[in-house]
Amino acid sequence: MNLDNLSREISKCKKCPLFKTRNKPVVGEGDIQAKIILVGEAPGREEDLQGRPFVGEAGKFLDKLLEIAHLKRENVYITNIVKCRPPNNRDPKEEEIMACLPYLKKEIKIIQPKLIITLGRHALSHLLPSKFKISQVHGQVKRLINQKTGEKQYYYLLYHPAAALYNVRLKKILEKEFAKIPKILEKIERD
Ligand code: URA
Ligand code: SF4
Repeated sequence: MNLDNLSREISKCKKCPLFKTRNKPVVGEGDIQAKIILVGEAPGREEDLQGRPFVGEAGKFLDKLLEIAHLKRENVYITNIVKCRPPNNRDPKEEEIMACLPYLKKEIKIIQPKLIITLGRHALSHLLPSKFKISQVHGQVKRLINQKTGEKQYYYLLYHPAAALYNVRLKKILEKEFAKIPKILEKIERD
């Protein structure tokens, strides 16, 4: 399975009711050899119209954050937990997330990133086994060992950029934590 096949599969997907109301499914985009994957929540209005992740207001802030981390969009891979927009930007439901999660798992498997950055509580609670609270663990790096393969995977747990749009305190925190990405990656690559 490569990303083109996966993209085709997602564009035809009817595994959860969100396919009925979407305009375009939003598959991840970026460098397929990226060292970093960023995982958001779900497409919003603009993403649903364009079929691209993080192209609305939150996306503009994410671009700024990437700049702070000396990263370019083309050099990372940006995706979401859920590929179709929930109506009126409501939270994705648990069953929708469970239906869609295998696609994210495939993206991760294809790209094999050094670091997975979770943006917000949905990515946090569905990619990490423990029930963490974002307000308690943001800014932490976790190293998990896959029980089956023995492989290690690093995660960097961050707030969602949309949460910071109207919250100066969270904005400052995100900027500070994004600025640490180059050092974190350097450390992981030495491990
Ligand atoms: N918020 C998300 O979580 N993902 C997007 O793609 C856009 C906004
Ligand atoms: Fe399929 Fe995911 Fe879209 Fe649901 S959200 S229809 S599982 S691609």
